[in-house]
Amino acid sequence: MFAVRAPHLNDLRFYNEQGAMRKKTIIQCAVCTMMIWLYALAGFCTAYASGSVLIDPGHGGSDKGVELTKRDSEADFTLDVARKIKANLARKKAIKVILTRSDDRDLSIEERKKIVSGSGADLFVSLHINAGFGITSSGYEIYFRGFEQKGQITPDSDNVVDDMIQTRYLNDSIRFSNLVEKEMGKIFARQGRGLRGAPLAILDGLKMPAILIELGFATNHKNKEILLEKSVKDRIAGALSKSIEEYLESK
Ligand SMILES: [Zn+2]
Repeated sequence: MFAVRAPHLNDLRFYNEQGAMRKKTIIQCAVCTMMIWLYALAGFCTAYASGSVLIDPGHGGSDKGVELTKRDSEADFTLDVARKIKANLARKKAIKVILTRSDDRDLSIEERKKIVSGSGADLFVSLHINAGFGITSSGYEIYFRGFEQKGQITPDSDNVVDDMIQTRYLNDSIRFSNLVEKEMGKIFARQGRGLRGAPLAILDGLKMPAILIELGFATNHKNKEILLEKSVKDRIAGALSKSIEEYLESK
């Protein structure tokens, strides 16, 4: 049998303390959950890359470019790398990849530039393989359009705005080049030939950050060996995809 007794003052204190503890635990859990959500949201916001990139595989069709072997040309090499970049970045739904050519065809510089100007892309990357300058020349090179001084500019002139925009494109091109340099350095160790401002026809007048990358020298024995490695196209495409993603993330 159970004896029924009136609740003692100590019992009430015990129940009150228990209730307060339960409330405290619920509040603590809610705060923890909120912090986890905020942390996840912050991570989502900072690691979110979005935008569009235009990849230009050099040469094509009757213009094979530099010859690596009788069967391996610059035109095919750059096309394969461009396709791999597109496949890599297709996993990132918010990044759109456009190619100036997605098959083996003739495409003039004018036609390429028409595609670029109609694309509205955030970034332009032209892919090539180097040759010449003697057999000792080796490594990758990154070119961007340099900033040409236009002489005296009046403060109210449209040139000021124009120059500010061009300077922004130049700064962004250099920022992107630095990311590419870091990643390409893993493939061509200590063989980066630096960043070069140059008035290249394909880059001239583009209204976006733009670079041309020479992926190594077909005329250098060691570079050629690297360029003919089975995994090298995947590695180059991986390096460029990562640089593009990092660039778009930091925009
Ligand atoms: Zn080329």
